[in-house]
Amino acid sequence: MQIRFRFLHDSHKTIYIQPVGSFNHLRVIPPDVIIEFVRIFFPGCEVELLSTIDFSKSMKYRENDGIRQYRTGSFYKYLSQTRHKRDAKRELLCVAVTMADICISKIWDWVYGQARIIDGVGVYSFARLDPLFPASPQILLSTPLTNEHRIIMLRRCVKVLLHELNHLFGLKHCIYYICLMNGANNEIEMDRQPLYLCPVCLRKLYSTLQFNVRDVYENFIALCGKYGLEEERIWYQKRVDCIQDTNK
Ligand SMILES: [Zn+2]
Ligand SMILES: [Zn+2]
Repeated sequence: MQIRFRFLHDSHKTIYIQPVGSFNHLRVIPPDVIIEFVRIFFPGCEVELLSTIDFSKSMKYRENDGIRQYRTGSFYKYLSQTRHKRDAKRELLCVAVTMADICISKIWDWVYGQARIIDGVGVYSFARLDPLFPASPQILLSTPLTNEHRIIMLRRCVKVLLHELNHLFGLKHCIYYICLMNGANNEIEMDRQPLYLCPVCLRKLYSTLQFNVRDVYENFIALCGKYGLEEERIWYQKRVDCIQDTNK
């Protein structure tokens, strides 16, 4: 099967983000905050947040150890069947995000996300990114986020979405350096991933999007400062300082 990765076209440059299920409770990072990072990370793309939809009866799920898990295939089906409702001339990718847990099939226990590259669709779950997971739904729905947990969750949500969107742009798992594109199958591996691309992966993304790296880094510094991602703000600031030094 021939895999066609997504490349920007004059008109096809919109990444649609489709929230599915409720994002209206105490332990949620609002999707509009997360997509601010997507806008900066993929310059030249337009990022549009669609209105949240509920799970429909046709979306398949199973109960696994008391946790409801929706099948990724149901999301793909929905995103493909509703393409006519979006602007097909502008659409580059369309991905669903959800606070529900997701699984691929009976064989897989759960996944953070999955994509169908050939169709330009994907689905990503933030359910397991809460430091309190797997607390009961009652606890999750009644315990407000502390600032510390908010930052942990925000960092993880942004990582999942940027990592997975990079896959849709053709990047594979990185084996060269500590990198956002390192594979992660559990919480420890996810927290080990940094929120930046190594030089190899940055060059790969640049070959597709042709952006000004310094502008991207400066925008990222401002956004990390705005939302309290201090480690990342310092990392990006050091790189920008280094660029300035070499320009002297
Ligand atoms: Zn991956
Ligand atoms: Zn890399």
